Amino acid sequence: YSLFSTLPEAPPDEPFSVNGAYKKDCSPHKVNLGIGVYRTSEGSPWPLRVVEEAEKQIHEASDINRHEYTAIQGDPEFLNLAADLVFGFGEKEGSAVSVAEQERKRVVSIQTVSGTGANRLGAELLARNVRPRCVWIPDPTWANHYAIWELAGVPHKSYPYYDASRKAFDFEGTFRTLAESANEKDVVILHACAHNPTGADPTEEQWKMLARLCKDKGIIPFFDLAYQGFASGDAKKDAWAIRHFFHELELVEFCVAQSFSKNFGLYGQRVGALHIALTSTATEVVSEKVFSNLCHLVRGEYSMAPRGGAEIVKTVLSNNKLRKKWQEDLTTMSQRIQKMRHALFNELSKLNTPGEWTHVINQIGMFTYIGLTESQVKVMTEKHHIYMLKSGRISISGLNEHNVRYVAMAIDDVVR
Ligand code: PLP
Repeated sequence: YSLFSTLPEAPPDEPFSVNGAYKKDCSPHKVNLGIGVYRTSEGSPWPLRVVEEAEKQIHEASDINRHEYTAIQGDPEFLNLAADLVFGFGEKEGSAVSVAEQERKRVVSIQTVSGTGANRLGAELLARNVRPRCVWIPDPTWANHYAIWELAGVPHKSYPYYDASRKAFDFEGTFRTLAESANEKDVVILHACAHNPTGADPTEEQWKMLARLCKDKGIIPFFDLAYQGFASGDAKKDAWAIRHFFHELELVEFCVAQSFSKNFGLYGQRVGALHIALTSTATEVVSEKVFSNLCHLVRGEYSMAPRGGAEIVKTVLSNNKLRKKWQEDLTTMSQRIQKMRHALFNELSKLNTPGEWTHVINQIGMFTYIGLTESQVKVMTEKHHIYMLKSGRISISGLNEHNVRYVAMAIDDVVR
């Protein structure tokens, strides 16, 4: 007998299951295109050089407070820097100095257990206080969005994000669905850049139209920002959509779930923040209320987010020399991914593999929806020992000079 004997089976997490299966495979040819982590051309993890330098500085400073509790909201200096990275306070052309301060006041920030924790906390805040009737989730999406909103008790509906025939973002489908069916105070999940799993993003013009739509219909945008700087190599460019919503729609309130897993390579350190952007007319009383409710949720859940990784990010973002080094590391990662996209495309072209493959170079970020069916993916894994998600999502970062030809030949084999 056990209290838990009647528990239902909980669904496994696909990327972590695929990763487990890869580790067990003894084939010398095996390739891991499953999990979304950065790998070098040798297939190894890469602690960012700037992170190693920041760690050294922190270690040498040997601050006796370094293991103390922080505040419930986390480290205020880290939060200021994190918010600034997202919103670029005062950076808009022609801004007076005081503008930065006004803009900063519109954002309430709290440190979270990385991007997942930020998504979860934002869902919880909205579910308890705004009570949306539904959350609109892109189809497809990062699978955890479903779990997060289900646990928060908010029913979800899907909008058609991906046009499989064009292998691109389905703007018409997205716009039509939200325009016709979304209601005031519904939430819409938007991947701020480098959509996971498709690698297909809206254009700036399309973002502008989606922003207008949210404003006109009173839909609450919820940005998931997991790849800022990692996607294009330019942190400002990758935050374009969020900054547009912030500056152009001063009367729309929205959430941003920010992760430092990929852009700082701090996956296991769990560094992130949740930002709530308020309207330009919101009072300090409102801002205080949002802040205290967030603190209340965090206190009852885990008291405060861990401080170690946030200390590293703070050290880097507060120092111009280290910031420059971080930029170099972002360039290294984003360029290697870009190079591998071209290498895979070139190998497929050389093999004359049936089908159209330009999406491999047009899509952005860690992932590409390669365009294989579930049964083709099965053959990729069982016959060729190449691991990927059954949707055909591949993590480009798992490719390198040594395996890209082998992967292209396997793709060629399964599609012929
Ligand atoms: N959101 C998206 C779209 C992601 O791809 C990921 C990570 O893969 C996350 C959020 C959260 O990651 P983490 O919790 O490590 O910050």
